[in-house]
Amino acid sequence: MDYQRFFADALATLKAERRYRVFADIERQAGRFPHAVRHTPAGPVPVVIWCSNDYLGMGQHPDVVEAMAQTARRMGAGAGGTRNISGTHHPIVGLEAELADLHRKQAALVFTSGYVSNATGIATIARLLPDCLILSDSLNHASMIEGVRYSGAARAVFRHNDMAHLEDLLRNAGRERPKLIVFESVYSMDGDIAPIGRVCDLAERYGAMTYIDEVHAVGLYGPRGAGVAERDGEMGRIDVIEGTLGKAFGCVGGYIASTEAVVDAVRSHAPGFIFTTTLPPAVAAAATASVRHLKASQAEREAQRRQVARTKAALAAAGLPVLETPTHIVPLMVRDPELVKAASDRLLERHGLYIQPINFPTVPRGTERLRITPTPFHDDALIAGLADALVETWTHLGLPFEPQAAVTAAE
Ligand SMILES: *Cc1c(COP(=O)(O)O)cnc(C)c1O
Repeated sequence: MDYQRFFADALATLKAERRYRVFADIERQAGRFPHAVRHTPAGPVPVVIWCSNDYLGMGQHPDVVEAMAQTARRMGAGAGGTRNISGTHHPIVGLEAELADLHRKQAALVFTSGYVSNATGIATIARLLPDCLILSDSLNHASMIEGVRYSGAARAVFRHNDMAHLEDLLRNAGRERPKLIVFESVYSMDGDIAPIGRVCDLAERYGAMTYIDEVHAVGLYGPRGAGVAERDGEMGRIDVIEGTLGKAFGCVGGYIASTEAVVDAVRSHAPGFIFTTTLPPAVAAAATASVRHLKASQAEREAQRRQVARTKAALAAAGLPVLETPTHIVPLMVRDPELVKAASDRLLERHGLYIQPINFPTVPRGTERLRITPTPFHDDALIAGLADALVETWTHLGLPFEPQAAVTAAE
């Protein structure tokens, strides 16, 4: 058996489908975001990052960086163990209290990433419920799908944000059967938002539990940055809120917040929580500083909203195919895997702008796009430069200039 041949063939398939992923080698510069350095075979070159999930630039906030540096000096680099075996350090205990308070829940539990929180959190909750049926939105993130699969529970997928379909599935399941509805608040690729209140109405009517992924909303929405459920006044009705510390909070890690009983059950049963080393104390301290800052400060959220609106307006005025969204996510539709890669390459090499192409399976085939995420640090001059560079790129590649309706669930 020529094992190497199989791996080479697997890669050749990806390349033939133009889905082979190439990573940019980026050196971030604290205090200069979104400016960074890109390392190339020909040497380092300057670049402006337009596709970061560090949505508010909190990864370079002085309080956050200082908390990390100071804690590392005082407590060292690593946690030294799993949570059960000497790894429950004081900063992670403080972080969990901070997150429970953020979401006004009884308790919170931190994982090594948002991916792990979903994969092991959903799996554990659904496995503990006898004969559980999981109702899962069709556009849920890969980490949620993994949790659903790993739970071994039966699952029914409802069409994206389609409440009539969700209601049919709930009704068919019957009131007595344990049911878990898993969905997101902000869908990160189309930038649309779930009708959280209506999901909660249905959950109450049919006796289901609710699990929401607020990964692209925490820090950004709601008066204290607790997410869209907070903004919409629905936070108290959601059973489990999942979030990340790696996006708007600018660090790394994930969490769930819920009742004492749910959190304690997950803490006691979830393999992805139990059998892995705790996040470092420095990361926990930095994340706590970030969450605490964004609970009190509106400045970052307001500045981001302003620069997002200006970016959307500038791109639309230039006739670029920007997808209308009610959020901070600005998708620019290309709808072809080869062309989206060519556009991204040209923006990077000719204009020094970094916007990673988004391909299948992250989005459905035929909906390939550039996903632009303006932050408070993308000033008006950078936005004007982006619009000019995109127009040059669109013209050079012969891409269509046309307004876009919102992507529908059918795509
Ligand atoms: C990024 C992402 C995650 C995973 O969060 P990480 O902290 O990056 O592991 C989970 N859910 C959604 C919707 C995401 O986009």
